[in-house]
Amino acid sequence: MAPQGSRAPLEFGGPLGAAALMLLLPATMFHLLLVARSGPARLLGLPPYLPGPEALWSPWALLLWLTWLGLQAAFYLLPARKMAEGQELKDKTRLRYPINGNPIYDFFLGRELNPRICSFDCKYFCELRPGLIGWVLINLALLVQEAELRGSPSLAMWLVNGFQLLYVGDALWYEEAVLTTMDITHDGFGFMLAFGDLAWVPFTYSLQAQFLLYHPQPLELSMASVICLINAVGYCIFRGANSQKNTFRKNPSDPRVAGLETISTATGRQLLVSGWWGMVRHPNYLGDLIMALAWSLPCGVSHLLPYFYLLYFTALLVHREARDEQQCLQKYGLAWREYCRRVPYRIVPYIY
Ligand code: NDP
Repeated sequence: MAPQGSRAPLEFGGPLGAAALMLLLPATMFHLLLVARSGPARLLGLPPYLPGPEALWSPWALLLWLTWLGLQAAFYLLPARKMAEGQELKDKTRLRYPINGNPIYDFFLGRELNPRICSFDCKYFCELRPGLIGWVLINLALLVQEAELRGSPSLAMWLVNGFQLLYVGDALWYEEAVLTTMDITHDGFGFMLAFGDLAWVPFTYSLQAQFLLYHPQPLELSMASVICLINAVGYCIFRGANSQKNTFRKNPSDPRVAGLETISTATGRQLLVSGWWGMVRHPNYLGDLIMALAWSLPCGVSHLLPYFYLLYFTALLVHREARDEQQCLQKYGLAWREYCRRVPYRIVPYIY
């Protein structure tokens, strides 16, 4: 933890990086969506013309979006739901809210860690519900549109829909696990998470399905089976690693994790050094990346565009891993260095 009076180091390149990202992210999203609809679908080509305001602005779209948010908010507020405790905040004092913030940086990262209106937690609500479920709905709409256009949805479209539905279903099934993620415990609710959850995820994560609608790809059954296998391997690593850590953090004596080797830290918490977390320091990221590859492969290899998610996600996870590493080093000090010595690879064994 930073000593009193000192400020935590700035992330994302500070205010300049934050300002650049706030311009680049929406621009990239528009670029990707327009390119996916264009004939050549060239990821690195010149951006197609932005449609006029009449094509960009529709009161119906706004109404639909507000209805979607309202519906999700109503579900979120339903009294019949399981309540779970989040992690206790380390710093309950005003030190978390230094007065001399940079407005651009603060707007990007968000100053408020857990903004709430009564019991309505704005950040937690946005993390999984409107955007993630919206992504599945957009995928489904594209599948239906393909069926209308070509008589039936293509095998590639089925695979992309199935894989991503599994991913979103998994996130919702294990919803409680989101409470220990960096987004909830460390990042404020600013542009990064609000735009990321509500716009970036539903519209750019559905890029493969959008691409397939405008650029149908033939897919052999044998190739489809290989792709399913890749997705299954990725999912097993992703789910195995996340569940192992969650089980261990909840109850280290749980028989499923009690036999694993650990390192003790000065905080009283332990770090796993065998099982999935003994293979690399972020096995869950590895599984996620393997799945990202499986989502792009049904789109063939003629275009780079459907691989945008894989490229972007690799960059995101490499950066996220570095941030997490820094935070773990601050939290666990020497014990974290010992973990890095015993588990030298970050995400990909023997490579990175
Ligand atoms: P992680 O689930 O990877 O959690 C990191 C934390 O785990 C560390 O801060 C530390 O916290 C704990 N930890 C690290 N090493 C060990 C160890 N050896 N033993 C025990 N605990 C350890 O964090 P993320 O929030 O980054 O990722 C969660 C999931 O979400 C991942 O599967 C990721 O792939 C996915 N994700 C998906 C995104 C998407 O857009 N699709 C975006 C971002 C993430 P502590 O010690 O305090 O418990």
